[in-house]
Parts: sequence; C-alpha cells; structure tokens
Amino acid sequence: MADTTPDVLVIGGGPAGLMAAEAAATAGASVFLAERMPSLGRKFLMAGKSGLNLTRDEPRSAFMEHYRCDPMFREAIAGFGPDAVRDWAKGLGQELFTGSSGRVFPVAMKASPLLRAWLLRLSRQGTLFRTRWRWTGWDGPACLFETPEGPARVTPGATVLALGGASWPRLGSDGAWTGILRGRGLRVEPLRPSNTGLLAAWSPQMLRHFGEPVKNVVLTRDGTVSQGEFVVTKSGIEGGAVYPLSGPGFSGPVTLDLYPARSEAWLADRLSRTRGRASLANHLRKAIGLTGCRAALFRETGAWQGAAEAARRLKALPLTIAGPAGLERAISSAGGVSALSLTQALMLKARPGTFVAGEMLDWDAPTGGYLLTGCLATGRAAGLAAAGFAAR
Ligand SMILES: Cc1cc2nc3c(=O)[nH]c(=O)nc-3n(C[C@H](O)[C@H](O)[C@H](O)COP(=O)(O)OP(=O)(O)OC[C@H]3O[C@@H](n4cnc5c(N)ncnc54)[C@H](O)[C@@H]3O)c2cc1C
Repeated sequence: MADTTPDVLVIGGGPAGLMAAEAAATAGASVFLAERMPSLGRKFLMAGKSGLNLTRDEPRSAFMEHYRCDPMFREAIAGFGPDAVRDWAKGLGQELFTGSSGRVFPVAMKASPLLRAWLLRLSRQGTLFRTRWRWTGWDGPACLFETPEGPARVTPGATVLALGGASWPRLGSDGAWTGILRGRGLRVEPLRPSNTGLLAAWSPQMLRHFGEPVKNVVLTRDGTVSQGEFVVTKSGIEGGAVYPLSGPGFSGPVTLDLYPARSEAWLADRLSRTRGRASLANHLRKAIGLTGCRAALFRETGAWQGAAEAARRLKALPLTIAGPAGLERAISSAGGVSALSLTQALMLKARPGTFVAGEMLDWDAPTGGYLLTGCLATGRAAGLAAAGFAAR
C-alpha cells in the first residue's frame, strides 16, 4: 500500500487530538487524523453525560494551582486557559453558563452538539478522518496502522500523538501505547487511576440503594474536606465529592457528615424527643428526615445506641473504605509521557517531529473542567508546533 503523506498526522480523535488537528489546519497544514474506534470523541461524549464541564470561571492563578505537573506542561496549559476555551466553544455555536463553584458548561448540558459542530468545521478546513485505524508503531519515518482494509502506512511531515490515558478503556484509550513508547527508550510514568471512586464492601441491605445519589454532604479524609454529592454503587462510592479524596496521597479513614448544615446538638435534641411506639426507622424519619440511602448508610455503620451517639455518628459516619477504584471506572489517569522525554514544544527528544498532547502527558488535575482544558490546551500547543515543524 502506498504511503499517505500529510503535513501533520494526528493519532487519536479525543479532545486533544481534535484540537491539535484544528490548530495545525488553521496554521495551513494538511491534516490526517486516525482513530482506532469506529467513531470520534467517545470519552468526550461520555463526559457530556454529566453535563460536559468544559472549564472554570476563576482567576487564572487560582485555576493553574489545580494542575500537578512539570512547569513545561503548565506553560502549555496557561497558553489556552479558561477564557480561550470559552471563546472557542462559543465560536462553535455553544451557549455557555457558569454553574456552582465556577463550573462552566454548555447550556445543552451535553457534548454531542459541540462535537458535531467541531467535526464539521474540521472537515471544512480539509482534515481527513479515518476511523478503525489503530496505530501500532513506527517503521523508520512511517507510522504503521492496522485498518479494516489491512496494514497502512502514513509518512507525515510531523505527528501528534493524542492517544489518551487509560481510564474507561472501552471508550478507546487503553494505554497500549505505553509499551510502544517504552520500547523506544522513552520515559513513561505508570498510568494510575485519578478522579476515581472509593471501594467499599457493602452489606446486602445496601443492594437496593445502588445508583442512589447522596446530596449535600461532606466527606473528610486525612484532613481534606470535600463537600457535594456522591452515588452509592455496587463497589463503593463515586462522584464529585469523592474524587478529591481518592488520589495517591490519601490512605486514612473516610468520614461522612450527613447533616453539614446542622449541629450535633440540634440532631441530639431532635433524636431525644419521645419516640413512643414508632419504629426506629419512623423515628429517624420524623425527627430528622433520615430516609432511603442516607438511613441505610447510618444503619451500615452500627446499631442504635441512643440519641447522643447517633447525633455524633451522623456528623462523622465512619465509612469502611478498601481503597481507590481501578482504571476501568476512573475519570482520568495520572502518569504518562514524562517531561524528561520532551522538548519545551512537547516534542519527543528521541523522535524529532513527533509531538504529544492530552492525557498521555504526565500531568494530573481534578475533574470538573481542569482535565478538558488541559487536553485542549496541550492539543493546541502540539498541533501548532507540529505544523511549524512540518513547514520547515
Ligand atoms: C465519565 C467521564 C466524565 C468526564 N467528565 C469530565 C468533565 O466534565 N470535565 C473534564 O474536564 N473532564 C472530564 N472527563 C475527562 C476527559 O473526558 C478526558 O480527560 C479527556 O477526554 C482526555 O482527552 P484526550 O484527547 O487526551 O484522550 P481521549 O479522550 O481518551 O482520546 C484519545 C483517543 O485516542 C484513541 N486511541 C488510543 N489508542 C489509539 C491507537 N493505538 N490508534 C488510534 N487511536 C487510538 C482513543 O480511541 C481515543 O479516542 C471525564 C471522563 C470520563 C470518563
């Protein structure tokens, strides 16, 4: 099969790869984008299921504090920060709004309208897309692919690798690239779950509460306090309030305040009122409105030992946590291509003309806009640098 020879080859059709393609095409390069899955942006669409938190509305310095990474990546991210992301999304016809704690979402609260408009604009710019093309490595200057039509080769002027991390592998990013890059002597930090749930072994009484949200609560671990909501799942708890406490630095017990707006004294007072002939469940419901999954969590942590003890426990339920959940359900993965293997332009030192972007890079951040902004920003930086390299 004859080689395809675009100026810029982008491998990976997630937000980082699509942004790299856009930046390179806007700079005048011919762009060819290959994706192993049958369609583009699968994880981006999945992120849209919870509303697509694109970025944050907060001062740049506060925003940048959330990234744990080498200054090289920080610089690339700062080059396309929250304002730029908002302008870009608006340029694709997306009306945006800022929700609680500065989270920025499209009004549509999903990713599909944005993705459709983005792919249309990329096609009009001349980007060629190939799906079901799986990159398998290099042969000299050529990138090798397995495709439904058999093996294919692409020999570009420059390449952007935007293959994602290793969370939710069924959406496409399975981290298989780590073997290819390490085989070339490149430094890749191990991919580990980040922004993931916590594992808990529930008693059978919790079964009927799987999938139930627990809202307006406070979780505390190792002195870190996280307010918000979570969902009880078959394997434990996951959701916005859990992710900040599941990172590599945490190991201590997790406590849950089911009544952050009430004092222990208020709870004790209500619970010590005459119960009469009411069952315990009815007493808890009438006195403090404790029902459903919240009541089950209370029962899960011990028997009734009087109003004072219950009030104390409701303010700090000791959850039995076995550890963080695995990569299959993590929102993102930490680790990836080390800054030590890259130039300032995100180019592999050992392979001039090959740039890296998105979650493949060794940076980490909380979910909720920081991840997508980081992927878009590094995608843009790598795409521009690749177009520049190809035009030399
Ligand atoms: C459930 C969920 C909700 C999320 N919500 C948010 C949110 O609200 N806000 C936020 O900021 N972030 C969120 N994220 C995280 C965000 O979606 C990711 O950080 C982002 O998609 C990573 O972008 P990427 O382009 O680097 O990688 P990916 O989106 O993973 O794209 C990489 C692409 O490369 C392809 N690929 C991999 N290997 C090959 C190969 N060998 N050949 C060809 N193609 C290959 C993959 O199929 C994939 O399409 C969420 C993630 C999940 C799972």
